[in-house]
Amino acid sequence: MVYTPVPDEVLQELLQPSNSKIVLLVMDGLGGMPLGPAGPTELEYAHTVNMDTLAADGVLGLHVPLAPGLAPGSGPAHLALFGYDAFRYRIGRGALAAAGVGLDLQPGDVVARGNFATLDEAGRILDRRAGRIPTKEAAPLVEKLARIRIPGVQIDVRPVRDYRFVLRLRGEGLSHKLKDTDPQRVGVPPFPVEPAEPTPEAQRTAEILNRWIEEARKVLAGHPKANGVLLRGFATDPQLPKFGERYGLRAAAVAEYPMYRGVARLVGMDVLDLVDTTPEGLFQTVAQHWQTYDFFFVHFKETDSRGEDGDFFAKAQAIEKVDRALPILMDLKPDVVVITGDHSTPSRWRAHSWHPVPVLLWAPDSVRTDDQYRFGENACQHGGLGTFPAVHLMPLILAHAGRLKKYGA
Ligand code: ZN
Repeated sequence: MVYTPVPDEVLQELLQPSNSKIVLLVMDGLGGMPLGPAGPTELEYAHTVNMDTLAADGVLGLHVPLAPGLAPGSGPAHLALFGYDAFRYRIGRGALAAAGVGLDLQPGDVVARGNFATLDEAGRILDRRAGRIPTKEAAPLVEKLARIRIPGVQIDVRPVRDYRFVLRLRGEGLSHKLKDTDPQRVGVPPFPVEPAEPTPEAQRTAEILNRWIEEARKVLAGHPKANGVLLRGFATDPQLPKFGERYGLRAAAVAEYPMYRGVARLVGMDVLDLVDTTPEGLFQTVAQHWQTYDFFFVHFKETDSRGEDGDFFAKAQAIEKVDRALPILMDLKPDVVVITGDHSTPSRWRAHSWHPVPVLLWAPDSVRTDDQYRFGENACQHGGLGTFPAVHLMPLILAHAGRLKKYGA
């Protein structure tokens, strides 16, 4: 079934206030595949008594993240879940990374993902990730990089995880239309920063960055592993409409990984500090802030990671961990709970796929239940929500939360 997405201005007109509380629980890469024909998927194999109870009382379906056949990255897949057209709003990797570590973005800023690399005496890359040096080893090096000054531009550098960092340039006349310096192989020197379009801004920004890289090499000289840097994913502020205004919600994000904290921050959600990163910790963080917000985006990464490892059983166990912690969330008495993924990451594929993603919608005051009582791909395929584009999920959530008026007379 194909529907026209609700136009932004119509949605604005229809919003009405409510005291309802909403939780969107995203198990990253939730959708899976059976190990063999007719077998269960990871979610179907997992023992999920709490989710199954919600499935019995709620309604199931499948969402298509972006479009049939497109395997999405987590960034666009989350934008779709948040109700944004991911083809219209494109977030560069650098912007996600910068927002993820709390670097704010303004129009005109240029951001990039960086990582330390090992270079030989001739400047050729020996290791593109500097032996994956851990955060505690990388952080002091990032501090050194942060002291580099180039006239005419303000430069900020922040550590991410392990050997990664982010770089932000702020100033007049900059452009993010630049090519990556990472040649994606060893034995050759990094590329210099080059403009990806023939504009004076891109030319100037490339020159600034090449000077910065030169200075970085001097600062890092002598380090046994991290004596070079690679820059990629040049981006700028995607200028996304703010989630809170768009939906009339006070929204918070409960997420561990920088990328998801980043996408939440870019849409203007408050990103909360975590109690701990287990599912219990995520839900306890929700509990701590229950009175302050109307909408909680809770992100659990491990399902995707185990899917990418190709470990069917570990992915199922990750799902079970979330299920065991679920009573902490349900004890808060939310009005609407949606449990889904941003995309599928079948462990058989060790990668993101385009397969539709299980959706469980629980809203005791408004749901028209179906006859499904187990949360799994097959049940979702026969669920009452049907198969629908992910961008329709937010209006559906708002409706169940009593936050949408009637359209038209
Ligand atoms: Zn994902």
